[in-house]
Amino acid sequence: MKIAVYPGSFDPITNGHIDIVKRAAKIFDRIIVAVARREQTKPLFTLEERVALANEVLGRLENVEVTGFSNLLIDFVRAKKACTIIRGIRAVVDFDYEFQMVVTNRKLDPRIETIFFMPSAQYFYLSASLVKEIAALGGRVSCFVPSTVVRNLKKKFTNCY
Ligand code: ADP
Repeated sequence: MKIAVYPGSFDPITNGHIDIVKRAAKIFDRIIVAVARREQTKPLFTLEERVALANEVLGRLENVEVTGFSNLLIDFVRAKKACTIIRGIRAVVDFDYEFQMVVTNRKLDPRIETIFFMPSAQYFYLSASLVKEIAALGGRVSCFVPSTVVRNLKKKFTNCY
């Protein structure tokens, strides 16, 4: 059974993330969407909220599960008996950081491969940070995130709507 872990902040989950999960789910037997705690980056949504949102959106995909984690990614991947880390790659700005992660994770455990998926072109420039900036200023984000995320962003920024 080929299990892959797709780690990220998912603060919140966007249509770009969903595009990557769907592509990966066609290739692997099981995808574990691993939501990183990352308190130090002061996420807008708590870990529990980010997991719940991702679950609500991805729950219907039968070979996908969503879970939070706060330990070292490589340790999490090994504990889940996964062989691969999935990452999404967008414009060139992603490359430097993502390559650094691959090289580092490979040093920590050379048996675990990282595989990159490219999203549909409409999501090349979509990021959760951009969505939060637009939502904070009262802009429409319904073309970037699922409706449940739109509702939850509205709740976070109620005074802006
Ligand atoms: P992180 O803080 O780990 O980068 P993110 O939630 O921002 O967490 O992203 C998780 C993964 O999803 C990363 O590999 C990122 O490049 C990818 N990703 C984010 N947005 C998109 C998008 N619009 N299209 C494709 N991949 C994306």
